[in-house]
Amino acid sequence: MKLTYPHMGNLDIILKAFFEGMGKEVVVPPPITEKTLSIGVRNCPEFACLPLKITLGNFIEALDKGADTIIMLGGFGPCRFGYYGQVQREIVRDMGYNPKIVIVEPPHGDLKGFIKNVVSLFPGMTLKDVIKAGKVAWQKMVYLDKMEKALLVLRAHESRKGIVTQKYNEYRNYIDRTSDVREIKRLSLEGIREMKSLTKLVDTTLRIAVVGEIYLLVEPFASQDIFRELNEQGVEVKKTEYITDVVFSCIMPWRLSKIKRAANPYLNQVIGGHAIYTIGNTRICADDGYDGVIQIFPFTCTPEVVSKAILNKMSKDLDIPVMSLSFDENTGQAGYRTRIEAFVDLLMRRRGMDLVNV
Ligand code: SF4
Repeated sequence: MKLTYPHMGNLDIILKAFFEGMGKEVVVPPPITEKTLSIGVRNCPEFACLPLKITLGNFIEALDKGADTIIMLGGFGPCRFGYYGQVQREIVRDMGYNPKIVIVEPPHGDLKGFIKNVVSLFPGMTLKDVIKAGKVAWQKMVYLDKMEKALLVLRAHESRKGIVTQKYNEYRNYIDRTSDVREIKRLSLEGIREMKSLTKLVDTTLRIAVVGEIYLLVEPFASQDIFRELNEQGVEVKKTEYITDVVFSCIMPWRLSKIKRAANPYLNQVIGGHAIYTIGNTRICADDGYDGVIQIFPFTCTPEVVSKAILNKMSKDLDIPVMSLSFDENTGQAGYRTRIEAFVDLLMRRRGMDLVNV
């Protein structure tokens, strides 16, 4: 059995650690490129969400590299994510491939049942094996996210363009190569220290929070790496959701209550996708004194289109500038960069900041 799964930020490292820990051979899809996207665009319905197109491209590229089993997350709810797996199964078969496709349903608060399901996917492995492999994957998830959080602040102050990203990638690779739980933590903290040593002090800086659909938040290719773009303009960025947050909210749904409380005056029920997080996190970041909020989402994402309308009202009520950016395969880099520059410029003027400072 040669397993594969879609790319989504650092998910490739986390899942590889888990599946290899379970004694399986893994075929990591090649890094996402325009070719990956074009495979998805050519074979998916035109109005399918961007994440569905990119992840289909991942599967095809991995199948061409020899994978024979696809692992995909299932789900339910008002948005389309729940049936991605089924749709992709049909498309892959129509394209003449015949892999085994395993759709893993998220735990929805039933961790015990979820672990039981996972164990059943690996005949011959015990609960002890799952826990051991899960521990390594968990540690990688937590400490890669910590390192990325630091990256999105420190890169705004790097002493030479690209140097902090280079250090981050170096330590990301070290973490990928180890399966020692203590070493993962040590490498992550050392990586953060090293990145810090490559920055210069700046008196003032803008802080922008990025909210929106989870795949775009986590996978840089899908948002044309908006985080890097903002950092390179001297802006510290807070990504409001990481893979760790998604996993936590799946296994401990009660942790959502802070977000729900914050969202409540504007949105009092879950309408699918990550809309409730978009609204709740915008309110939390406005209260925390962020200079502005950017919402990112796939062009056809209904929950985020609803959120966008709500964000217009929140922007006025909470006196915080909000910009919404939607992405699809036709999003041009030049126009998108101009909009970001104009937004940053607006925030600087609001703060009375000198252009030289940032
Ligand atoms: S959240 Fe949006 S982009 Fe993601 S699957 Fe649902 S509708 Fe599509």
